[in-house]
Amino acid sequence: RRTAHKFVPEPLSWCLDGRETDLLHYVFSRPDLEDLRGSPAKVLRAIDDYSEKYKYLMNIGPTKGENISGLIAANKPSVMIELGGYVGYSAIRFADAVRANGGKKYLSLEVNPEMAAISTILVELAGLRDFVRIMIGPSDESLVRLIRDEKKMSSVEFVFIDHWQELYLPDLQLLEGLDVLKPGVSTLVADNMRLSGSLDYQAWLRASPEEKREMNKTRVGRSKLKRKQPDSASGHWPGLGNPNLIYETSTKIFDLGSVQDGVEITKVVGEDSP
Ligand code: SAM
Repeated sequence: RRTAHKFVPEPLSWCLDGRETDLLHYVFSRPDLEDLRGSPAKVLRAIDDYSEKYKYLMNIGPTKGENISGLIAANKPSVMIELGGYVGYSAIRFADAVRANGGKKYLSLEVNPEMAAISTILVELAGLRDFVRIMIGPSDESLVRLIRDEKKMSSVEFVFIDHWQELYLPDLQLLEGLDVLKPGVSTLVADNMRLSGSLDYQAWLRASPEEKREMNKTRVGRSKLKRKQPDSASGHWPGLGNPNLIYETSTKIFDLGSVQDGVEITKVVGEDSP
């Protein structure tokens, strides 16, 4: 049960200023609208056209997007989860790739109901309505609902992390605490590595289990699981993650015209037993 009323973030100068609903008007007034129906590639092209001609949209874009689709093709997840759906660009691009590679479902977690509504409309236009589920709410609440309460998932295969940078590490540790990051199974891809807010995420991925256990002695984790004691099976507090997991991780840098950006690609490769 929710205790506090949660509100959507303040409009930012470079997004959430009405441009996302303008995008809908732009797409649905295009003369080639009928051609877009059922075509993820054409809907993506239309969204790219809008952001090239009118206003910047904070989506993954074609360059990084194609690269991540390649990772999806290599990993062939049956279920993929994204944190941060925005107008549905990455959901359309990556759900199409998951579907083309034999997958079953794409779960898009978005906190802002207005963005989720826009994304729902564009996902439907792209013909992916039955493949993509859009969950509205803060990612941590949706993850707990999805993994623990609803589906009772024992692992996550492929997670795309692209919401706010300060949430990358807490949500990674939430997944660790939920015990769904499994060696040889789980891949994490996180966008916006050029932004300083994600340094703690990268540092945690690179630290050894020993270093992480040490870090945990002085940190207070955020637990949405509201457990009174550590999980008896795994022996660690969900809010502090699982320091014993071992990651193989690297940052891929992309040149995007005037700016550079990085995508962190991470595989869970082992688990230390202290
Ligand atoms: N992945 C999208 C794409 O490439 O098309 C772009 C996502 S955009 C960079 C970030 C999105 O994360 C915004 O729509 C924002 O509302 C959402 N967001 C921010 N905090 C969130 C949270 N706690 N849970 C879920 N979504 C969140």
